[in-house]
Amino acid sequence: MTPKSHLMDILRKHSVAQKVAKTPLDDQGLADNTRFPFLSLVGQTEMKLALLLSLVNRHVGGVLLIGPRGTGKTTAVRGLVELMPMVTRSRCTYGCTEQAVENLGMDAICTNCAEKYAGGEKLTATEPMRLIELPLNSRLEDVVGGINERVAIEQQKVQLQRGILSYADQNVLYIDEVNLLDDGIINAILDAAAQGMFTVRRGPMTATYQSRLFLVGSMNPEEGKLRPQIQDRFGLRVVVKGLTDPAERLEAYRRAAAYRQNRHHYSAVWQTETAQAAAEIQAARARLRHVTFAPGVEETGLRWVQALHIESHRAEIAMLEAARAHAALDEREVVTLDDLRTVAPMALRHRESPFITEYISNETETDRAIQTVINGKP
Ligand SMILES: [Zn+2]
Repeated sequence: MTPKSHLMDILRKHSVAQKVAKTPLDDQGLADNTRFPFLSLVGQTEMKLALLLSLVNRHVGGVLLIGPRGTGKTTAVRGLVELMPMVTRSRCTYGCTEQAVENLGMDAICTNCAEKYAGGEKLTATEPMRLIELPLNSRLEDVVGGINERVAIEQQKVQLQRGILSYADQNVLYIDEVNLLDDGIINAILDAAAQGMFTVRRGPMTATYQSRLFLVGSMNPEEGKLRPQIQDRFGLRVVVKGLTDPAERLEAYRRAAAYRQNRHHYSAVWQTETAQAAAEIQAARARLRHVTFAPGVEETGLRWVQALHIESHRAEIAMLEAARAHAALDEREVVTLDDLRTVAPMALRHRESPFITEYISNETETDRAIQTVINGKP
């Protein structure tokens, strides 16, 4: 398959572009917020692809990056910032939008926004998607929101305070070391991400927030397991290994060294490519709703899921949505079997469960025995 889009082209020939500055530059020792350009990461094609597909289609269901330290997981996630598309976001805590008024009338927005709307003020703003990193020591209240403790103490008043999750709406929420996070917190995040909204109740107070987020988790399996039930809830799973090709490793080292020497110069070298890729991602998002499957592609996907004895329906949802995103990113409106083959390993790995397969087989036998008894002669 010859990729049409510029971005797919860069992804495929990851190690060819000799973009590293040849002339050594002085190490300026500046601390700033430049990020290592995503496109200049050597190799790790599957990791990069999984992240890009999720930027295009939130319904892919998030990405879990599994691998040892120092393989570029965090660098890749942070590098996504420069590629992030523009999104239209509500300016109100309750997520009120003009579209809600158009679809459902004035009752669909809060009184504050109703006043603004009547006065001709905008309820939404168009701005770039953001990267939100979840601090490892977050408490459940920090994540979902809770009672504002300062207001409670100073004013003896109960006021709800927004949590990190509500700020993550239409953004990327990155959880490094997701396997070390408390189960209650990770479940709350996964539920909110799956439903696109969540409700906080504290005493008589209740608030519902939108949470249409793209979740990225990363973990080092040496530092603790992630329960299979939680792994299953991430749409795509990528096992990130160190580079095996010595030439690629050397190139990765050279790029890292050039970046350390002068971040601004290094980023500037990649700026044109980055801007073009960002535009392609934005265009792919717009194209996505027109993307459909070639005849038989969906059926083939489902046959693979069954052949692998995967019970979870999340397998086909993630695989088919990722395949749509892949076609959209490659500037096509029809998903082919090649799209499906490219994304299937990320969607299907770590899903088969010998325990569940055996459990269901035992259940089926029990059911057969019951049917024999209840359908026999009275
Ligand atoms: Zn409002």
